Amino acid sequence: MTLTGAAKVAGVIGWPIVHSISPTLHGYWLRENKVDGALVPLAVARENFARVVRALQLSGFRGANVTLPHKEAAFALADQSDAAAKTARAANLLIFHDSHIEARNTDMVGLRESIRERLGDLKGRNVVLLGAGGAARGAILALDELGAANVHILNRHPEKAASLVRELGPLVACALEADDLRDWNKAAGTAHLVINATSAGMKGHSPLAVDLGALCSTASVFDIVYNPLETHLLKDAKTRGHVIIDGLGMLMHQAVPSFEAFFGVRPKVTDGLRAFLEKSLHA
Ligand code: NDP
Repeated sequence: MTLTGAAKVAGVIGWPIVHSISPTLHGYWLRENKVDGALVPLAVARENFARVVRALQLSGFRGANVTLPHKEAAFALADQSDAAAKTARAANLLIFHDSHIEARNTDMVGLRESIRERLGDLKGRNVVLLGAGGAARGAILALDELGAANVHILNRHPEKAASLVRELGPLVACALEADDLRDWNKAAGTAHLVINATSAGMKGHSPLAVDLGALCSTASVFDIVYNPLETHLLKDAKTRGHVIIDGLGMLMHQAVPSFEAFFGVRPKVTDGLRAFLEKSLHA
């Protein structure tokens, strides 16, 4: 890759950042669209986040993607935010303008488009959502936009699920319920779709402890974890014949608005991109 002095440069900020697949993903689109630009991985500790963001803005960066543990800090420091970032109180995209910083949350777009691509809309459907962290917050908005009738949130610390219901209930049309993850067997039977939005199953974390035997055979199982791509949960769901959705679709779709904001071209999510990323994840 050769950059000229006129290159469009953006960053992806996290701690750690070494496992991020975003530079690879954006690199594919940069080559495909022949853009003179780069997405630079930046390992930034929590205490340095705000200073680094200001410095990048002053250095002519177009913006930055933001990953763990900075998504809440990114939302807090922005001057202007979209509705998804306000609801999630977290942002994964910062766009630098001359006089201000704009925050967006595109994880919600990624989840919505990834479900739409595989299952269409969710009108009248019951969803069991596992987890009550940042990703689950965005997921509730996405599921509401897709027309879900009921979203049953189960979390290891059930009070966090209950507080999500109190906070987001008035903002969405779908019915929200909250329970303990231990109530899985009761909740699972009526689910059309189960989404793992916890970090369980991620590389280095223990797998999610739920018994898929409680699910109806026609239910679909979506795991938003993408490293590994085929989690223990998805392997089990596949063996039992459920439709499965992995986290790569969400990852690719959440990156579309970022790439467009940084580099001025709306990129395409294609089978070629998926194959390329699958290869990188297995390397
Ligand atoms: P948070 O740290 O905000 O939330 C973590 C959630 O996981 C909490 O609900 C927590 O429960 C739960 N949890 C953690 N460990 C366990 C366990 N062993 N058993 C049951 N529940 C557990 O993380 P995020 O919401 O930001 O991210 C969650 C996952 O989503 C990550 O794996 C991340 O990589 C993935 N992700 C994927 C994206 C994609 O594009 N595919 C985009 C964004 C995120 P409790 O509250 O009880 O502690």
